[in-house]
Amino acid sequence: MAVLEKKDTAALKEILPQVTVPIVADVHFHFQRALEAIDAGVHKIRLNPGNINDREQVIKVIDACRERSLPIRVGVNEGSIVERKDKQKRMKELGGVFGENKYGHMLAIMITKLEEYLDIFYERNFYDICISAKSIDPMVVVAAYAEISKRFDHPLHLGVTHAGPKETGTIRSIAPLSHLLLSGIGDTIRISYANDPIYEVQDGLELLYCLQLRERKGAELIACPTCGRIQVDLFKMVQDVRKKLDAQITLPIKVAVMGCVVNGPGEAEGADVAIFAGDRRGIIYVQGEKVANIPEEEILDRLLLECRQFEDKVKRGEAKLGEKKVDILPPDPLGELGSGWEKIRLQKLGIGLTVIQ
Ligand code: SF4
Repeated sequence: MAVLEKKDTAALKEILPQVTVPIVADVHFHFQRALEAIDAGVHKIRLNPGNINDREQVIKVIDACRERSLPIRVGVNEGSIVERKDKQKRMKELGGVFGENKYGHMLAIMITKLEEYLDIFYERNFYDICISAKSIDPMVVVAAYAEISKRFDHPLHLGVTHAGPKETGTIRSIAPLSHLLLSGIGDTIRISYANDPIYEVQDGLELLYCLQLRERKGAELIACPTCGRIQVDLFKMVQDVRKKLDAQITLPIKVAVMGCVVNGPGEAEGADVAIFAGDRRGIIYVQGEKVANIPEEEILDRLLLECRQFEDKVKRGEAKLGEKKVDILPPDPLGELGSGWEKIRLQKLGIGLTVIQ
């Protein structure tokens, strides 16, 4: 939470008793906000060396955090750190070290700033520190965190700052964060979009789930991208299924929504509950066993019913997640999924339209 003014730290006293997650007070310019936030019971303080750099003020925050056993994150965002004359010499030295690096100048500024700032903490024997070094440039983020992880023995908070709209910010954030996390660098993450922060949390969690860095909560949905074989309104179906799964399922059931039976069985291997659509119909499978063949308008409700029933079975110990009982067999091509499948069969025989492989 950004705490700019006194009313923000006053609000913390009301907010903190109502939440179950740790709250970090993000403090800029006014060190008093940090002291007030600590007093309000916040769980961590973030300081920006770019705008809270008075030694005595920083010491006051360090001492207050020590008293409450609170960690401090030192965040050297690219946009807010300023070159200072007295650090030019060190920067020149580091500039030599990073001479080969395309982002050497920025790395030198960040490392210099961190060294200078963290010295104040070390002098006070305060080591409960987390570091972040965000940039708007994903490649600077990769280079900066790789370098910082070599030089400082503190947890790292990763992020691409001001990543832009969600539409492009997703790739901009996920690409460097995936690389770093898979290299073993990073302890916490923030995805930042110019959008509702709920998407930041959703996408951040999905990233951690995908990289198997966090145990999935709720259903995992896989869905086909559609192609010329599609004969149902799959995009709408997928969105409807996703919303209902989020609301109704708590276990990490794997659910597959596939547009047809040509590639569907293979693509849905390993799904606990799967649907393969045909010509305005769908067949539902639970761990490989066919349980229903229904018209399109009934798919959503029935699929959700099967997911809920399957989840109940898992909770009762009667089924196991990810356990495939039988291989999924493609449905009978002679009409089980309606005329669409029949059309494909005829196409394969060279009768009618071109087959898309
Ligand atoms: S082949 Fe079937 S499952 Fe695969 S993308 Fe096309 S419609 Fe979807």
